Amino acid sequence: MTRSFPSGDEKSARRGARVQNDAIISLENVSQQFDGTTVLHDISLSVKNREFFTLLGPSGCGKTTILRILAGFETPTSGSVHIGGRDVTDLAPNRRKVNTVFQSYALFPHMTVFENVAFGLRMSRTPKAELQARVAEMLHMVELEGLEGRKPQQLSGGQQQRVAIARAAVNKPLVLLLDEPLSALDAKLRKQMQRELKHLQRRLGITFVFVTHDQEEAFSLSDRVVVMDQGRIEQVGTPIEVYEEPVNLRVAKFVGETNILDAEVLGQEMTCPDGSLKARVEGEERACLLKAKRPFGEGCRVKVVLRPEDLIVHSHRPSAEAGLSLEGVVDETIYKGTTYDIAITLKTGKKLLVTEFFDEDDEKMIVAAGQPVFVTWIKGWEVVLPDDPA
Ligand code: ATP
Repeated sequence: MTRSFPSGDEKSARRGARVQNDAIISLENVSQQFDGTTVLHDISLSVKNREFFTLLGPSGCGKTTILRILAGFETPTSGSVHIGGRDVTDLAPNRRKVNTVFQSYALFPHMTVFENVAFGLRMSRTPKAELQARVAEMLHMVELEGLEGRKPQQLSGGQQQRVAIARAAVNKPLVLLLDEPLSALDAKLRKQMQRELKHLQRRLGITFVFVTHDQEEAFSLSDRVVVMDQGRIEQVGTPIEVYEEPVNLRVAKFVGETNILDAEVLGQEMTCPDGSLKARVEGEERACLLKAKRPFGEGCRVKVVLRPEDLIVHSHRPSAEAGLSLEGVVDETIYKGTTYDIAITLKTGKKLLVTEFFDEDDEKMIVAAGQPVFVTWIKGWEVVLPDDPA
């Protein structure tokens, strides 16, 4: 059943419905320098209302700095920040309709769960009856009813996490900022909290801006992600777009396992639909056709990106219709339950990783270390990218 906003909050619900899908956050040409070093380079981004939006990238790429700029803990060196249609670039943190959930939760240890959650409402002098109703509503949402009287140290990690979210969400911010909030949890609890966080975001109906360096976590939670590297935006898109159509090799390598083949463009294939390149892959004599989303001139060196699940292993050389087949030897196979990974070294020395669904009844599929094999890929699933040295 979909929960409705508590009475008294109809206004905010109506406002939420009205601006749904509009940009609730926009950063325009934001740069940040610390001690003369630029850590954010000309960032322009917009986040839609009620979106689960994730900043993803390696350590030090500037994710937390963006979050701190949104929260108002940092003022950008240049550029502007709008939240809810208002220019907040120079506005103090407590005057923004934004709250932050920190990695450490930062709960008040001497206060009970109830008092922790009520804190923001007390600061804004919310009348007692309304305060009690809103805290109760919030504790119900995060499934902490019955634990109101406990202190943080009497709670599990997951429960503390939920208190931190309830405390940040109780005064209905436009945006909740979450800085690696699951990183302190063990793997099993982390997975459970990921699911809870997503459901909670839908129930609360507010925008979440989430920071993580964990690609799987980002993909499983987010409507859209921005992939960052060294203070720059590499790509913004849905998880599927970023995984299946990485815009460059940095994104391709950062999000998931990648196989990267070397190729040389021989020319545009005129007899085929737009975007087909005739190319020589991994030095093979036989040319093959590659689907490319951008033009590449004759003689261009390119990279062909293929995910492990795009590749197919054959124990005998397949017919020409299967496309180009690359010869190699199996290094090892790793059984993973429903799938198994096959590590292969091509005769060029290139290492490949292939993921196949495991079917114990299909003996043809099961290969062993040392076995010669041929690798093809599902036609059209390749991504052709410029040969970027990075
Ligand atoms: P992590 O995943 O490790 O938290 P991050 O992507 O969140 O990393 P930031 O914390 O935003 O990265 O840091 C980006 C860069 O800015 C880093 O090189 C960091 O050392 C630097 N930096 C951040 N805050 C400051 C500061 N107050 N003074 C000087 N340098 C800073």
